[in-house]
Amino acid sequence: MKPAIFLERDGILNLARVERNHQLTPLTLDQFQVNDDAIEPLRELKKQGFLLVGTTNQPGLSRGYQSRRELDLMHSVLRRALPLDDLFICPHDETDHCPCRKPQAGLYFEASFKWHIDLERSFVVSDKWQDAQAAHLAGCTSLLLKSPWNGSGHHDFVMHHLSELVQKVTQLHSSSCLLLNQF
Ligand SMILES: [Zn+2]
Repeated sequence: MKPAIFLERDGILNLARVERNHQLTPLTLDQFQVNDDAIEPLRELKKQGFLLVGTTNQPGLSRGYQSRRELDLMHSVLRRALPLDDLFICPHDETDHCPCRKPQAGLYFEASFKWHIDLERSFVVSDKWQDAQAAHLAGCTSLLLKSPWNGSGHHDFVMHHLSELVQKVTQLHSSSCLLLNQF
């Protein structure tokens, strides 16, 4: 069983435009821009043996405004730029009431089944409360990047910049290993 780092796509792995206090998800390759701040931390965490898994809600797939082809193009750019092991997508609309649309934790359970992930020793990184809530349901530790979308629900830690990520994860991971070794 391996520990993983789950990374929310929009706002962490790629930049998201903001309009009227809302994040706008990029819908075409032209609008898609990898977040350079994520490159170094992800390389380092990969080196440390973490599985790196992107997750994203893409309701545009079922609502019809996100083409699957453009999404695949964007994701191949993402996979070339960042050392991701996998990328899990919820294609459903809110009204579908699926178990995988965050704040539900279905994507993490799906990934955990496929990759034999130890969720208790895994982390969720996002700038939005929905992921922190999903992390809580799955038993992962949540690290929220400070943003207007952090909300007031449960989260474990807040970072002010992605450059804090490696240190935070290393520190928490090694203390949880110490704890486990005591038993
Ligand atoms: Zn879903």
